[in-house]
Amino acid sequence: MNLATVDPDGVTRSLAVIVQSLDRCRHGRHVVDPCGSCPNGLSEGNPHLKPGQKVGYDVHGETLYVPGPDHLSDARAWRTLPKDAAAGDDPLLNRAYRERNRLVAGYTRHWPSVITEAPDYPGFWIVYLVSPAGQLSWHIPQEDMDLFKHVRRVDTWAWDGHTTQQKYERLNAACAMWEGRA
Ligand SMILES: [Zn+2]
Repeated sequence: MNLATVDPDGVTRSLAVIVQSLDRCRHGRHVVDPCGSCPNGLSEGNPHLKPGQKVGYDVHGETLYVPGPDHLSDARAWRTLPKDAAAGDDPLLNRAYRERNRLVAGYTRHWPSVITEAPDYPGFWIVYLVSPAGQLSWHIPQEDMDLFKHVRRVDTWAWDGHTTQQKYERLNAACAMWEGRA
């Protein structure tokens, strides 16, 4: 290795850039920033690493978790399960999720729906809708469960494997049927 290229500060800086990119969607936009290529016009974030996801263990065997998007460069945050795993603890982001969840709750009044505890995120629920174009699902944090009181709770429900992109394609198709255009 050419010693002239070994620059510990440079390495640290490049690693920091990588770590701070872990919330970006596949098009390079930070989570919930506008993204013209993500299905709903907002970056859906890193589809492979989600806040709250276990990613491994430290030398003492303590669990390491993906932090919320504002805490990616805080080493302590990697050792703590984010309080609101979908949104970190950014109040603006939590508000944006709540707005989205109100719209999801609206759809549950039009199509048959159930809600079940999320097996992948502790403290989260998953609402499943049976739209005429196929199954739709969203993660719902405990604090937004007040919006889903009318939805039947079930112990488990089978996810049909749809991706986020397929979900929004189905939503578009289902809304087109609703409006009598398809
Ligand atoms: Zn995107």
